[in-house]
Amino acid sequence: MNSVMRIAYFTMEIGLDSRIPTYSGGLGVLAGDTIKSAADLGLPLVAVTLLSRKGYFHQELSADGTQIEHPADWDPADHLELLPNRISVTIEGRKVLVQAWRYDVESLAGTIVPVYFLDTDIEGNAAQDRSLTDHLYGGDSAYRLKQEIVLGIGGLMMLNDLGISVYKYHLNEGHSALLTLELLQWYKRDIRAVWDEKLIWDIEAVRERCIFTTHTPIEAGHDKFPYDLVESTLGKQLPIEILKELGGADHLNMTLLALNLSNYVNGVAKKHGEVSRQMFRGYHIHSITNGIHPYSWACDAMKKVFDRHIPGWANEPELFVRADAIPDEEIWNGHMEAKRSLLEKVRELTGVVMSPDRFTIGFARRATSYKRANLLFTDLERLADIGDGKLQIIYAGKAHPQDGPGKEMIKEIFRHAQSLRGRVDVVYLPGYSIELAAVLLAGVDIWLNTPLRPMEASGTSGMKTALNGVPNFSVLDGWWIEGHIEGVTGWSIGPAPSDKQAADHNGSGDAEDLYRKLAETILPLYYGDRAGWIKVMKNAISKNAYYFNSHRMMRRYVTNAYITTHQHPMDVGEDT
Ligand SMILES: *Cc1c(COP(=O)(O)O)cnc(C)c1O
Repeated sequence: MNSVMRIAYFTMEIGLDSRIPTYSGGLGVLAGDTIKSAADLGLPLVAVTLLSRKGYFHQELSADGTQIEHPADWDPADHLELLPNRISVTIEGRKVLVQAWRYDVESLAGTIVPVYFLDTDIEGNAAQDRSLTDHLYGGDSAYRLKQEIVLGIGGLMMLNDLGISVYKYHLNEGHSALLTLELLQWYKRDIRAVWDEKLIWDIEAVRERCIFTTHTPIEAGHDKFPYDLVESTLGKQLPIEILKELGGADHLNMTLLALNLSNYVNGVAKKHGEVSRQMFRGYHIHSITNGIHPYSWACDAMKKVFDRHIPGWANEPELFVRADAIPDEEIWNGHMEAKRSLLEKVRELTGVVMSPDRFTIGFARRATSYKRANLLFTDLERLADIGDGKLQIIYAGKAHPQDGPGKEMIKEIFRHAQSLRGRVDVVYLPGYSIELAAVLLAGVDIWLNTPLRPMEASGTSGMKTALNGVPNFSVLDGWWIEGHIEGVTGWSIGPAPSDKQAADHNGSGDAEDLYRKLAETILPLYYGDRAGWIKVMKNAISKNAYYFNSHRMMRRYVTNAYITTHQHPMDVGEDT
């Protein structure tokens, strides 16, 4: 590596390609898109993550919708280059060797961002340590803590060993926050130069180096470890009373640790910034709304349309502002080509033959309670009446292996599919992945999202559909609050975010609104006014895709987080 100072982007998961299954969902795919845009923009950045040799898991669904999990084994040597460098971290008093595999994300112009995948499966490590980088989000909290030591502390040491000079550390979620403890060691002041022993810890120097992006609007989503576990696993990195000041009195809370040791903190949509400021009072939390990587998420048919009418779109997505200049029939034909590919995939995976002429709703994301995948089935009779012969629905999404209610929700959708058969066809596609997402997101006619407010920090799948001319039909939460213009870019479900009772409307009011708009507005527009429908498709591209992309997001990180100086969050008021 040359002497250029780099941004080091730390992430527990990353989704770059379906063949590298080191991601579980939105967080990882966002990390992948971040790195791809950084490469396109020629930013001096490197990424650090874990190898996750057994991936997340491969999902099989039985006839009744029971999720069966298989290891997603893959061979790193097929895609990555093993580097000779080795460092070691101390875990439970044992020395654990860590090596790294390199993957280069290369832009069309040839600029490169390397991704380093950390791996402990090395001869010489104890058997239990060799499996530390096997499972993404598997194992108990001791396993997770050890993984976070490898990621945060090991990652920092590996970059050092690789000779990479780092200008800022960007923590994508709190999983890598232990790197701040190692940085405190690096920046330790000379004991003879300070009048109070506490002052050897140069907290300000570490803060100046760290940027923290939080993604979780729910308290339970933040990693917390008991201090006795921390001490037995990590040893005494710094005096316990100082650690408690930084990471929380009762548990080591990785989010708190990251908040206290970062000079720039942000949520991933405007609303999520607000929610985070309420959750962590006294911290100055900004927001940078997520985006998606345009070239990766445009389907082949739409790529051709864009190439013809908006040359340069992939590296300058602002040009989508000109989407109105695309002739209607080209948008329509491009979309129909994507829809036929999707229906072919549906037939292949489920045996169900769906019609390209029928209005198709898509819904795919992590199967977990707050996403309410089953809201659409609140009143089966009504859904059947509205959709009889006019509607078909395609689902996909994995439930975390330990998420019982999430798994139950998949089975419930299978039961509803049975009862609706012959009137409204419903399928659930197994094995949601980047590859399947690309086909599904581009091929449906509308993208449904019904999370409980305010749990959807941002959401990114709807940005991917908008890019392909597929409008959103969604609860006003996360990014959709910023992207939604009623009847122009798509449609909302339920109350406006300004409605202070919105949280109370999380119940049946949403289903009522969903049915009413589907029956009275959306289906009539689709079947009765094709030109009107295509106008909404174009607006999704010109008014959503032009903004909600990771090129814009990365430019924001550069100007707002990477190359500016900020006062410490604690010193500033809580509003932006
Ligand atoms: C985009 C994407 C997600 C995130 O979708 P959300 O709507 O943000 O939950 C999850 N999984 C895959 C495979 C994706 O491509």
